[in-house]
Amino acid sequence: KGPDPDLVGIVERMATVKHKILVLSGKGGVGKSTFSAQLSFALAEMDCQVGLLDIDICGPSIPKMLGLEGQDIHQSNLGWSPVYVESNLGVMSIGFMLPNPDDAVIWRGPRKNGLIKQFLKDVDWGEIDYLVVDAPPGTSDEHISIVQYLQATEIDGAIIVTTPQQVSLIDVRKEINFCKKVGVPVLGVVENMSGLRQALSDFKFMKPGDTGETDATEWALNYIKERAPELLTMVACSEVFDSSKGGAEKMCNEMGVPFLGKVPMDPQLCKAAEEGRSCFVDQKCSASAPALKSIVKKL
Ligand code: ADP
Repeated sequence: KGPDPDLVGIVERMATVKHKILVLSGKGGVGKSTFSAQLSFALAEMDCQVGLLDIDICGPSIPKMLGLEGQDIHQSNLGWSPVYVESNLGVMSIGFMLPNPDDAVIWRGPRKNGLIKQFLKDVDWGEIDYLVVDAPPGTSDEHISIVQYLQATEIDGAIIVTTPQQVSLIDVRKEINFCKKVGVPVLGVVENMSGLRQALSDFKFMKPGDTGETDATEWALNYIKERAPELLTMVACSEVFDSSKGGAEKMCNEMGVPFLGKVPMDPQLCKAAEEGRSCFVDQKCSASAPALKSIVKKL
């Protein structure tokens, strides 16, 4: 039996991709796609040629997070053309193939694996510096396939995104063990939603005992402005999730993998993701952008 023609095709296609980074998480909703999107924006801003591949087949959020909702994929004789945000940032996602974004994709393993294989084999990325792969949460069939296919072509490693809570960290341990078992280097763990940072001037204020119906914001902001105006330029920090047990950093030390850093919960980052924007331009995401930048610099 000769070599698998699909694997040969993937190896050929990936020959023009310098670095491949897999973004993983133990659970959904921890900010994996947000991180993948902003990592891609950051690399593109550093003048790298970047491809972002979304293989979260059941919940593709990358098109929206890159501001590409409703776009179509085109084919050429070189394969499927990615949808471009900028000339150096191309995106591929099953989200572009669904006629209605509200449709559920209910596929069994083999069909999902087939599409992942096709994404790796048939997308015409051209010469790129980075391929960022946004994987589904957990360790399922798709993960085994993508790792198996990418390993035929060398993969730099995986970044694992988590929140500080124990329930998320337990699953990250499984994710790290999965990487160790299949031989994918762990580039590091990112602790996302690590405390809430918000400019005081963006807060909504309520009076004691109020359940939210009445708005005391104007009163409160005027009160602060009169007595301590410098407070309005400060950022208030709140530990939303209990990280008293040490959070992701402690777990990384225990498991012998790098800790890449903490990204705070930042309403402006959430807004940027909703609007499909980079958090690095126009300095709106002042709480999260510096943290994300410092993580990207460690890669
Ligand atoms: P996952 O890919 O892990 O399922 P998402 O990236 O879709 O998670 O994020 C879930 C939601 O949380 C999104 O609405 C996203 O905008 C928001 N979010 C993610 N990270 C942050 C953060 N650091 N601050 C504020 N909102 C965030």
